[in-house]
Amino acid sequence: MAYTICIANQKGGVGKTTTAINLAAALAVSEKRTLLVDCDPQANATSGVGIDKAAINHSLYHGMIGHVGAESLVLDTEIETLKVIPARLELIGFEVEMMATSGREQTLKNLLAGLQDAYDYIILDCPPSLSLLTVNAMTAADAMLIPLQCEYYALEGLGQLLQTIKRIQNKLNPRLVIAGILLTMFDTRTNLSHQVAENAENFFPELVFRTQIPRNVRLGEAPSFGKPILLYDAASAGARSYFALADEILRR
Ligand code: ATP
Ligand code: MG
Repeated sequence: MAYTICIANQKGGVGKTTTAINLAAALAVSEKRTLLVDCDPQANATSGVGIDKAAINHSLYHGMIGHVGAESLVLDTEIETLKVIPARLELIGFEVEMMATSGREQTLKNLLAGLQDAYDYIILDCPPSLSLLTVNAMTAADAMLIPLQCEYYALEGLGQLLQTIKRIQNKLNPRLVIAGILLTMFDTRTNLSHQVAENAENFFPELVFRTQIPRNVRLGEAPSFGKPILLYDAASAGARSYFALADEILRR
């Protein structure tokens, strides 16, 4: 059975996609069969691993509406053990089209059920909202990783996120746990980063990953080359930090 981790925070631009791509790649080169599922119509994770959205016939959307089986959605990446289910803008339609359908929160879980034996880890990249797509990801996941950008309003909105987690645990997915809080774009030179780290520790005792992701230019550049950081600049501080995160997760 695969262990499924959803990467979610309704706040935009906090490092969800960067974490999804690079954690998935780091797990894959650690010889874990890994599937990255892009659950965001923005499709940044899809292009971030080098998939040309114009050149594909199907995306997650077609699986979610039942037109194609999960197996035929899976694409190869440059890393042999890393596969991806791509997204495209049409995924926006899922929310509207499923509005009145019962069981709509379980669509992704059901879609991925047949892939459980083929992977060790499934990583779900969520959009910046608590929409039906994010609820689907949280329902399909064993654990949730919450990236927290080290900036002033970092903890704002976390109350709402925790409420959503509780609601999902009660109604849809009792096994969902918080895998951890990941501090991203950490800058050791600023008081603010240390302050956010301290606040996060207080808010989520014992849940903050020891690994912090530094603000690193190479991490920002890699997506424009369609490469995970470890293929773009394996020696960078960003690459090392995502290896350390994968290690922390593998050791649990
Ligand atoms: P959205 O909510 O829009 O999906 P997101 O939470 O997925 O955004 P990312 O796309 O991962 O966030 O990151 C936002 C921007 O910050 C991107 O341009 C990304 O390249 C950059 N970025 C992410 N992490 C880092 C980092 N550690 N150092 C430098 N730049 C980073
Ligand atoms: Mg994103």
